Amino acid sequence: MEELGHWINGRRVAGTSGRFADIWNPATGEVQAKVALASGGELDAAVADAAAAQPAWAAMNPQRRARVMMAFVQLLHRDMDTLAKTLSREHGKTLPDAKGDVQRGLEVVEFCIGAPHHLKGEFTNSAGPGIDMYSMRQPLGVAAGITPFNFPAMIPMWKMAPALVCGNAFILKPSERDPSVPLMLAELLQEAGLPDGVLQVLNGDKESVDAILDNPVIQGVGFVGSTPIAQYIYERGCASGKRVQCFGGAKNHMIIMPDADMDQAADALVGAGYGAAGERCMAISVAVPVGGETADRLIEKLVPRVEALKVGPYTSGEDVDYGPVITPMARDSIHRLVQSGLDAGAELVVDGRDFSLQGYEGGFFVGPHLFDHVTPDMEIYQKEIFGPVLSVVRAGTYEEALKLAMDHAYGNGTAIFTRDGDAARDFADRVNVGMVGINVPIPVPLAYHTFGGWKKSVFGDLNQHGADAFRFYTRTKTVTARWPSGIKEGRAFTIPVMQ
Ligand code: NAD
Repeated sequence: MEELGHWINGRRVAGTSGRFADIWNPATGEVQAKVALASGGELDAAVADAAAAQPAWAAMNPQRRARVMMAFVQLLHRDMDTLAKTLSREHGKTLPDAKGDVQRGLEVVEFCIGAPHHLKGEFTNSAGPGIDMYSMRQPLGVAAGITPFNFPAMIPMWKMAPALVCGNAFILKPSERDPSVPLMLAELLQEAGLPDGVLQVLNGDKESVDAILDNPVIQGVGFVGSTPIAQYIYERGCASGKRVQCFGGAKNHMIIMPDADMDQAADALVGAGYGAAGERCMAISVAVPVGGETADRLIEKLVPRVEALKVGPYTSGEDVDYGPVITPMARDSIHRLVQSGLDAGAELVVDGRDFSLQGYEGGFFVGPHLFDHVTPDMEIYQKEIFGPVLSVVRAGTYEEALKLAMDHAYGNGTAIFTRDGDAARDFADRVNVGMVGINVPIPVPLAYHTFGGWKKSVFGDLNQHGADAFRFYTRTKTVTARWPSGIKEGRAFTIPVMQ
């Protein structure tokens, strides 16, 4: 069986810890490979080599670092099909969705090509007599990223491209569930001209994560994953004096106003709720129709759409809406939460529990589920299910709908569907959620804006990508320089006195 190791000092190396994790093919349920889990010692050695490689990389002028990113973009386009196929085989998402995963990462790499501009700093001429003041952005040194399974191309690129282009060395600890694409990205970066040792990819679990958090050389840590782990990493990383930003889980609400185009809203909900089997931090998992009649109309439109969803393996090509979930544990957790919804009295209007796919009985497929009459006290409302399960929570008024989104512990994304500009504007202004869509169900900001939630969806202050990434991966140094008048004044024969 294939064994995946790490990427250290510009080449693939086998792990030495003797510990491994299984990598499934979620469509068939077979274990297709094993991935080495790095020990603390392996992590520390890779960090020491990265620290040795970093000063020369940081000393290279920013255009040359940007050119590495330019070449990387070309290589990502060249290898798009191979990357997407590998990604789908380990993650289970459809091929077009896997290409989207690579594409949204690639766009952040494109943004990083502008590094010479973003790293320019600030300058004040004549801040005082003969005094200039300037601020420069300098790299942190060695930074690290810990990433989740659900976007194995995009999120590693969101982390490593800005960190590297700022002149840092970077330690990537990708998800142990789907580690092949991150290793391929490291190979492409080397081909693009990245010096060896500047990027180290270590596969692993809690042991390597803890080694990152405790390693005194690592100055900054970026994390994306579930909220309990985000909070743990934030607290432990900050306690050891690092700069830390952690992005966590979500429960994204979509408000449907009575004046919304109901076909448009239903189509949007089906794509945003069930795409990628609901395994997106920006998935809509709660629909909030305003008014009983709106709710009835919405359910009428949703049911046939949800029942018609095509679930299958990525090998079926474009004719599949979503694939399997990532592990048998994820499938079982979704089934348990569906049962808890039923036990709590929610109405399961589309029941995907008995779903099975001929020829793929061992795969981790979950049929689509639609719940109506969900209430805020239910576990299915409070928890992130991370599966193809959409809950409808009926609200009597707009204020009630807004309050639901505001009172929920998570605050990653939200959306409103309406034809009324006043309602849309009020919602965007008042809601305490980081990313808002107006008639857009998945409002993922583009690379040159920033990405981040509020409340329990984030720990730390700066967002991902956009201008914030350059702030996170650099430190500001401000110089005050005074040059007393000298040689240009000519020779002086009298003793200088202070006036
Ligand atoms: P996860 O928290 O299980 O794992 C994320 C990373 O943390 C992995 O690299 C994993 O190896 C590591 N990890 C897991 N358990 C750990 C532990 N006990 N100690 C130290 N490290 C540990 O998350 P996941 O299941 O891979 O990803 C899904 C989650 O990520 C969902 O909650 C989703 O909402 C969230 N997510 C959030 C965003 C965002 O930007 N807010 C984006 C994508 C995914």
